[in-house]
Amino acid sequence: MLMNIESVVAKKKFGQNFLKDQSVLRKIVEAMPKNENKLVEIGPGLGDLTKFLVDVRSVEAFEVDTDLCKLLQSTFKEEIATKRLHINCGDVLQAWQSSLVDEPYDLVANLPYYIATNIILKALADPMCKNILVMVQLEVAEKFCATAGEKVFGSLGIIAQSVGTAEIVTKVPPTAFDPQPKVDSAVFLIQKTADRSDKEFEDMLRVAFTQPRKTLMKNLSQKYDKTLLKEAFDKLELIHTIRPHQVSTQDYHQLYKII
Ligand code: SAM
Repeated sequence: MLMNIESVVAKKKFGQNFLKDQSVLRKIVEAMPKNENKLVEIGPGLGDLTKFLVDVRSVEAFEVDTDLCKLLQSTFKEEIATKRLHINCGDVLQAWQSSLVDEPYDLVANLPYYIATNIILKALADPMCKNILVMVQLEVAEKFCATAGEKVFGSLGIIAQSVGTAEIVTKVPPTAFDPQPKVDSAVFLIQKTADRSDKEFEDMLRVAFTQPRKTLMKNLSQKYDKTLLKEAFDKLELIHTIRPHQVSTQDYHQLYKII
């Protein structure tokens, strides 16, 4: 039997926190980059954001919960018939090959938090994905949008800055959702100008941040030649006691080229 929206019980295992605050939904739509790209929504849930998105452009949606899939198919009968919306029922991570869809797209979604970082990293590597506008846990958004010098600046911020620009659109309190999550959330936007592709650069970042409060020199010297490192630091005018979060994205790329 098909449920109705009132009888839906949120499933914790799928990270279901439904966004109910209409002002936040409107802010997401207003922040969308203006272009002709397809829209991809991961986790449409009860369809609150989907309603806004199908009014803007056609939407490809991915929903893992089969109960919600059936509900969406009934709520959006007309949009599906007129091809404004296509729903893929299943795990988006399983469906994701090198590209999630075969045309340029913008990812716009209130993501399931338990796999949000993984989804964003996949979208950054996906050549068809052009922009990412997503709601995630505030702490995760701050990491992607951090700049050099901030305590939370690390691999995620450097990867985001290496492929484009990242900015927080709005912070969102737990009261905007039903059920309410335990943490604060934020919507942020990454506008891509390149794709994440350099695995060796990211391997270097992993070494650079193994012990974030230690010096960058100490972390890097676990894997790289110390004499070469000293020469590289001097060339880039980096003091030898600098901490990993104090070095700019540009300097990380220079350092990578040298070592
Ligand atoms: N977009 C809705 C909203 O804003 O109210 C729901 C957002 S809720 C935070 C996350 C949604 O992602 C849920 O509908 C959940 O079932 C779905 N989801 C969780 N894991 C998923 C996966 N692996 N693939 C596709 N959808 C998933």
